Amino acid sequence: MIVKEYTGNEVKKPVRTISGVTPLAVVLKPKKCSHGTCIYCPGGSDVPQSYTDKSPAVMRAMALKFDPLEQVKNRLRALNAMNHPTDKIELILLGGTFLEYPEKYQDEFIKKCYDGLNECASESLEEAQKINETSEHRCVAMCLETRPDSCTKEGIKRMRKFGCTRVEIGVQNPDDEIYEIIKRGHNVQEVIDSTKRLKNAGFKLGYHIMPGLPGSNYEKDMVNFNKIFKDESFRPDQLKIYPCQIIEKSPLATLHEKLNFIPYGAETTKKIVKDIMKIIPEYCRVMRVMREIPKEKLVQGLIKLDVRKDAETELRDSGIKIEEIRMREIGFNQKGLNKDLSLRVVEYGASKGKEFFLQIVNKDNILFGLLRLRFPDETFLEGLENSAIVREIHVYGQALKLGETGELSQHKGLGKMLLAKAEEISKENSFEKISVISGIGVREYYKKLGYFLKGTYMVKNL
Ligand code: SF4
Repeated sequence: MIVKEYTGNEVKKPVRTISGVTPLAVVLKPKKCSHGTCIYCPGGSDVPQSYTDKSPAVMRAMALKFDPLEQVKNRLRALNAMNHPTDKIELILLGGTFLEYPEKYQDEFIKKCYDGLNECASESLEEAQKINETSEHRCVAMCLETRPDSCTKEGIKRMRKFGCTRVEIGVQNPDDEIYEIIKRGHNVQEVIDSTKRLKNAGFKLGYHIMPGLPGSNYEKDMVNFNKIFKDESFRPDQLKIYPCQIIEKSPLATLHEKLNFIPYGAETTKKIVKDIMKIIPEYCRVMRVMREIPKEKLVQGLIKLDVRKDAETELRDSGIKIEEIRMREIGFNQKGLNKDLSLRVVEYGASKGKEFFLQIVNKDNILFGLLRLRFPDETFLEGLENSAIVREIHVYGQALKLGETGELSQHKGLGKMLLAKAEEISKENSFEKISVISGIGVREYYKKLGYFLKGTYMVKNL
């Protein structure tokens, strides 16, 4: 078994933890999607269907036979060796279709992830979570990838039981004709319905979008991506922009000639990334641009991975005002930083509820912290009855160990300031309670602020 470990001499990469929490990715075992294969999907049988065997996380997982416990232990060792803080972990489960795996597999996989963080075995998921509340490596957030049509009420209850706080769904291009061509196996209404259920459950929600699919073109892409923000049925909190590529062994690798399909080249990709950045409102963050598909796996498509950097440099140089979160984060804007801060609230309608995006910014609109507060239109989860929901609190800065201080630390009270404002807004709007979707490892923090556990949420009576 060869698993790459890092030595203590390896240079710490600041970007990895620049947003405050250390991500730790684990990969699910291979499984075919039940609807078939979307035509652009590599559809491998030795790896989870949407991945190739050359992705670093997948290679590590393969070497460890996809064992979650070993994957977590291995990553903790590597992160420690690179001097990354490991007390606040965001567990990211890669695999494409989490909720389609057998329930027993889901339960065991998540329990073992917590056991890995706790560095001890437990009898049950509940016990593992209890231990993690005060463990050295706390799971402060958990992200699952799944399909929109699997986000039923039951599916959502399961994800909450696991301590999941963020969900990423494949939306690609919300257009039923395109869905038909690419064999997505669900429709736009299912995207709309799952978006609403996920937000009403308090999840932070990410969409994967795919410019340049068969059946689309530049103009159609921009019409549909505009719709994602103009139409309140969508409005995700995050985006991953993965331009369509023709990947070896995907159905598209055999179909592309028949479909007369050519993926976008470098210039078109950069242009569409820039145009998407221009329409993104201030409550949305682009998490990633381009998938890391190795050159030898590509039949056709862009190899260049730094499209985002080029696009952002051109946007900054052009002086065009970009609202997108990441371009405004302090971590990426250290030069001549003005620290005269204020709290701004942006209100918008989304999925029949009301959203309040609270942000701590300086006068140049550089972002130091944010909070997402939702007034849901309905609920189906214990802990959320008659309650406003805090879907995310994030204070930016280099990740610091709990108790450590730094000039722009996460412990300077910005989080408390945001939460107090969210409580005030909720009370003014006659809510009896406020509930926070909290990672298991943050429950202690909320307890100290007068919150108590109800269902899977931390709740405070107002
Ligand atoms: S849903 Fe995702 S993993 Fe499944 S076939 Fe489509 S792209 Fe691949």
